[in-house]
Amino acid sequence: MTLAALDLPHEVHSLLTALGVAEDRFTGGTLVVRSPIDGREIGRLPEDDVDAAKAAIARAQAAFLVWRSVPAPKRGELVRLFGEELRAAKPMLGRLVSIEVGKIVSEGLGEVQEMIDVCDFAVGLSRQLYGLTIATERPDHRMMETWHPLGVVGIISAFNFPVAVWAWNSALALVCGNATVWKPSEKTPLTALATRAIFDKAVARYVADGGTAPAGLAPLLIGGRELGEVLVDHPKVPLVSATGSTAMGRKVGPKLAGRFARAILELGGNNAAIVTPSADLDLTLRGVAFAAMGTAGQRCTTLRRLFVHASVYDALVPRLKKAYGSVRVGNPLETGTLVGPLIDGGAHAAMQKALDEARAAGGTVTGGERVAIDGAAEAFYVRPALVEMPAQTATVERETFAPILWVIKYDDFDAVLELHNAVPQGLSSSIFTNDLREMETFLSVRGSDCGIANVNIGPSGAEIGGAFGGEKETGGGRESGSDAWKAYMRRATNTINYGRSLPLAQGVVFEV
Ligand code: NAD
Repeated sequence: MTLAALDLPHEVHSLLTALGVAEDRFTGGTLVVRSPIDGREIGRLPEDDVDAAKAAIARAQAAFLVWRSVPAPKRGELVRLFGEELRAAKPMLGRLVSIEVGKIVSEGLGEVQEMIDVCDFAVGLSRQLYGLTIATERPDHRMMETWHPLGVVGIISAFNFPVAVWAWNSALALVCGNATVWKPSEKTPLTALATRAIFDKAVARYVADGGTAPAGLAPLLIGGRELGEVLVDHPKVPLVSATGSTAMGRKVGPKLAGRFARAILELGGNNAAIVTPSADLDLTLRGVAFAAMGTAGQRCTTLRRLFVHASVYDALVPRLKKAYGSVRVGNPLETGTLVGPLIDGGAHAAMQKALDEARAAGGTVTGGERVAIDGAAEAFYVRPALVEMPAQTATVERETFAPILWVIKYDDFDAVLELHNAVPQGLSSSIFTNDLREMETFLSVRGSDCGIANVNIGPSGAEIGGAFGGEKETGGGRESGSDAWKAYMRRATNTINYGRSLPLAQGVVFEV
């Protein structure tokens, strides 16, 4: 179906209604949402104000006081039901993600799959949440640690993973015994409403089965950054997980530190790959193409810097340029499209500015131009840009949230490692090589300084089983798999004396 024949406002209305969202939640309000696919209005949402945000936090705090005493495996049952509801809703929610963010169909569905996967992970976790037993120097004593929930967890999310980020955080936060309050991006509130309705269905089933799920367990706030600020400033929110730009993290981080609250900051990336002389170039080509052009360059883990060894440069870069020239840009709902639109005109302007700067610094730009799509004059489609750069300039060191791949030739492995790490961000990285020494060095303490370091795959497309996050200006947070759950709990160390005397540690004597 051509773009002109699509009726996205009508389709969004049907999807939201079918998913259980009341019409007055997405019509007649002040927050206007447009689909990046054709630029047309698809929603007009009533917004919460600051007082409503404070009231939601109070409700969540009351819910926490009940929820914390529900046994963890029973809390896991609610998350299990949510996973089931997500499975049933996957085609519709995935479609809505594609319409609201402009992702191709398989990526919209993939985002929902990620939510399902993290629910599965959290359900297993709900029967663990284990602490250690620690050897003690005192006779007839036992020392152990216990993990307790924190309270209300604030979740601030970005536009590019409009629903998965909430799921990464809330599935863990809920099994850990916390309540959550979610402030989604003001660019993507419709998928948040849909997710909330799906969660409500799980809660209804849980309660019908005799489960305890207090009202106010997971409120949703619709509106702009001022609502995020309420979460950041509120004394009853001991942890804020904030995903978005480094500029946002720079404001949020110090405020949280100022009141000794915890932060999980998931901020901007400037991810790189190194292609060494021994790399399998066919595999490299595919890995680079997906990581750099997928999601129209709008993933935090998008490949942005490519360092290619001089000996393989001419064998790889012309092939890459060909792929950039032929990749299908257009309606993301159509089969065969690999690159959908940018989120808005601001993203397009930032991309063009970065390309102009690169040209002025001696870069050679392939692609990058706006692509006209029939029926989408108000949308921003671009051909992904591959830019051969003479050096890692200030423009390259900045994250531009658009499909630009900076390509830089290198000769020396140690020097390229230094260049790789010489940017302020530290999210994800990869190396394409068949050389054991290069591979191990890249993964070693002398290698990549990022939170994610891969071999023979690109830097994007993480699975939920690993801890996700990055260093330096990426913020240092970790969420999703491994032991990321510990960030949503507080640890108490307990010492128990089951004897009849009171020996003191370190041999201290205190007789009264
Ligand atoms: P953004 O920073 O513009 O907004 C993100 C969220 O923060 C929104 O909900 C916004 O309302 C809120 N916000 C903004 N300023 C705030 C403040 N002062 N106080 C409280 N809340 C505030 O980001 P975006 O354009 O939506 O997303 C793109 C950025 O997000 C990119 O930089 C990308 O790399 C990053 N990102 C990072 C990760 C990660 O896991 N590291 C994941 C996805 C996106």
